Amino acid sequence: TGTVNVQDLTKVYGEDDDEVVAVDEVDLHIEAEEFVTVLGPSGCGKSTLMEAIAGHLEPTEGEVLVNGDPVDGPDPSRGVVFQENRLFPWKTIDENVRFGPQMRDAVDEERIEALFGQMGLEGFEDAYPHELSGGMQQRAELARLLANDPDIMLMDEPFSGLDAMTKDLMHEKLLDVWEDDDRTVLFITHDVEEAILLADRVVVMTARPGQVKDVIDVDLDRP
Ligand code: ADP
Ligand code: ADP
Repeated sequence: TGTVNVQDLTKVYGEDDDEVVAVDEVDLHIEAEEFVTVLGPSGCGKSTLMEAIAGHLEPTEGEVLVNGDPVDGPDPSRGVVFQENRLFPWKTIDENVRFGPQMRDAVDEERIEALFGQMGLEGFEDAYPHELSGGMQQRAELARLLANDPDIMLMDEPFSGLDAMTKDLMHEKLLDVWEDDDRTVLFITHDVEEAILLADRVVVMTARPGQVKDVIDVDLDRP
C-alpha cells in the first residue's frame, strides 16, 4: 500500500481579481514504496500539491486517490512534516511522539522506545521542544510521524533550516526509515542537489502556473 494518484488536480485560492491558480491540472502517479521529490521555485504550488494529498484542502478540480480511494480529509496513514517544527510546545517530546497513537488508543510502548533509539533522542523524553536543537526537533517530528506507522510520508522542505552536517545526518535517517519500512515518501524541496540525492524520481514543477513540467528518473547510488 502507499500508491498516490493525483488526477487533473487544480487548486485556485481567492476569488475574482485575487484569484491565484496554485496548482493547474496536475497529473501525478506515485508507486507504493517510491521515494519522489518535488522540485520547483518558491510559490510554484509544491505545498498546495502536498496539502491536497494530505487531505488538508479541498481541490478546486480533480481529485487525489490514495490506494485507489479518494482522499477526503487527513489520516494518520499519511504523515506530514513541515519546514518549521509543529511539535506541541507545551508537551514534552515523549508526549508529542505518543500523541497520535494515544488519540487512537493504540500506543505501542516498544515501538515508541525503538523510535527514540532510532532517532537518537534517548534521554530527551521529558525535554520540551524549545530545549532541543533544530536537528533534534526535526528528528522528534520524524519520530512523531513514525509513531503513527504511516504508509505515506509527506515532507515539505523538512530540512531546509538545518546546517549542512545536520542535513546529511537527517538524509541518512530518512533513507534508513524509508528502506527498512517500505514507506512511500513525497519530499518537497527547492534544492536541486537534495532532490536528486534522495529520490527515485524527481517531479519538476514550473514557476507558473503550477504545472508539472517533467518527471525525471534518477539512477544514482544513494549515500
Ligand atoms: P510552494 O510550496 O511551491 O512555495 P505554494 O503551494 O505554497 O507554493 O503556493 C502556490 C501559490 O499559491 C503561491 O502564489 C501562494 O502565494 C499561493 N497560496 C498558497 N496558499 C495560499 C492561500 N492559503 N491563500 C491564497 N494564496 C495561497
Ligand atoms: P512555502 O514555504 O512552501 O513557500 P509559504 O511560506 O509560501 O510556503 O506559505 C506558508 C503558509 O502560508 C501556507 O500554509 C500557505 O498556504 C499560506 N500562504 C501562502 N501564500 C499565501 C497567500 N498569498 N495568502 C494566504 N496564505 C498564504
